[in-house]
Amino acid sequence: MLFIKPCTGRITSHFNLKRKHPITGKITPHWGTDFGNHNDNTIVAAQSGTIRIASHSNTGFGNYVIITHSNGWETVYAHLKSIAVKVGQKVKKGQYIGVKGTTGNSTGVHLHFEISKGRWTNSYSKHVNPVGYIDNSSIALFRGIVGPRVGNLQSKLNSIGYKLTVDNSFGPAVEKAVKDFQKKNKLTVDGGVGPATFEKLGKINIEKPSIGKSITQMAQEIIAGKHGTGHENRRKSLGISKGDYEKVREVVNQLTNVSKSVQRMADEVIAGKHGAGHAQRRKSLQVSAETYAKVRAEVNRRLR
Ligand SMILES: [Zn+2]
Repeated sequence: MLFIKPCTGRITSHFNLKRKHPITGKITPHWGTDFGNHNDNTIVAAQSGTIRIASHSNTGFGNYVIITHSNGWETVYAHLKSIAVKVGQKVKKGQYIGVKGTTGNSTGVHLHFEISKGRWTNSYSKHVNPVGYIDNSSIALFRGIVGPRVGNLQSKLNSIGYKLTVDNSFGPAVEKAVKDFQKKNKLTVDGGVGPATFEKLGKINIEKPSIGKSITQMAQEIIAGKHGTGHENRRKSLGISKGDYEKVREVVNQLTNVSKSVQRMADEVIAGKHGAGHAQRRKSLQVSAETYAKVRAEVNRRLR
């Protein structure tokens, strides 16, 4: 899922697991992206969804909003001066939701923005660096960033002759390709993709990378049955390495909403470890009817 930039203003602080906190001085992970003060401090929904929280916290977030999106992901908007939405309200991508401020644990007017790939909790287990997910060429990409925007960059670079694995992860190989591109195009060679490099690369096609299938596309093809059955068979049909196939498989499982334990149980059922007959198997697995239905669906999907 891609998002739009929730406000104007440049990035003043990145997602950073080793950040020194500006107030306490302690090493405290920074779970979001901060956008600084600007003439226009309106904040919009980064993607359509439903307002789950529109509230005030005396510590931390100050006035904040959490939006739940259609795939269960959530975005957080913190330190607001004012909130313009109510709990339960449906909002469209780009809809006004409030004004940037400095309420809560904050040293100046800014928006603290978080993306959680699932329900937001203060364990932060599903947080991602928003920069990999905000579709806006004014926001630079650099080594360490993960997300679909990086996949688009990889596809774009492949379309002009580079041979990168489209895995949504900005690693050393991507950095090397970017530096080479920058050198050839007389840009500042820093290995990061900022507005100038984006402009040279041309408009990145977000929905359909020009050459090279993304991991997600391959996963969707597998689900659609385009690559037959059996892992080795599918991998050969896709013409990719074992490492890449594992990444595709992971995405297939994510897309089909199959948990690791359901996969394991399906493996066992197929291997015949739980006997024959649904009632017998469910008893042997000691799972609820609901979980057994998931195992059964997974078994059927694999044997299809
Ligand atoms: Zn922040």
